[in-house]
Amino acid sequence: MKWLDCHTHTEWSDGRQSVEQVLECARQQFVWVGISDHASTTDYLNSSQRIKAYCDFLTQYPVARGVEMDLGRSFKISDEVRHCLDYVIGSVHGLSFNGRWISFQPLILFLKKQNTQYHPEEEIDHWDDFFRMHLTLLRQEYQLQPFDILGHGSLLPPLALDVPEAVFPEWWEDELIELLQEFHIAMELSNRWRTPYPRLMRKAVQASVQFSLGSDGHDPAKTSVLDYPRELIQNFAVPDSRIFTIPRLLT
Ligand SMILES: [Zn+2]
Ligand SMILES: [Zn+2]
Repeated sequence: MKWLDCHTHTEWSDGRQSVEQVLECARQQFVWVGISDHASTTDYLNSSQRIKAYCDFLTQYPVARGVEMDLGRSFKISDEVRHCLDYVIGSVHGLSFNGRWISFQPLILFLKKQNTQYHPEEEIDHWDDFFRMHLTLLRQEYQLQPFDILGHGSLLPPLALDVPEAVFPEWWEDELIELLQEFHIAMELSNRWRTPYPRLMRKAVQASVQFSLGSDGHDPAKTSVLDYPRELIQNFAVPDSRIFTIPRLLT
């Protein structure tokens, strides 16, 4: 089966590559590819009108048309524009916590001990609250409009500690999977973030969740490289029918 890499970025957001370059990467990796530039109230793609222009631009290429909506800073895509898109990824890149927006980037660097200036303890007293907030946000967003894929299918900051099975609570894993099933959302197998980790993947497979593949490539070196997702699909014997694809590309 020729897989579809649903998660790539171009110059429409923070990617350092053109659509032609993305297509060349996909050709070399023998996969179909979808473009999923960032959309949110703080990105260039901050309105249905701009997404329409982006979508119209993409129709000239043999690519799937997606966006990666930043949950917590999202906006409602109009029905008319939604029809032009093949799918919408919803991703969490930060959480509003005790009235403050906590961006994941500095938090991840802190957890990797690469940012000693930053002290999130002042903002996050209980990690359990953090996991709870994540699920609450997903539910709010899923009730607002339809999504197809949960980008980098878990929660990013705890992954930085490199011991996912020790830091992710099992209640969070179980509730996340229930949410994805309730709203028919695929869990992304992310090459960039190497997630889901094995225990979460095992539970998702058992629960018959759908999966999508994502390189999350922002430059040609990483775009459409899908080693980790392929490894998961193989190790957990995920059937082709459970992998997200866009029938239009296959014809
Ligand atoms: Zn990006
Ligand atoms: Zn992302």
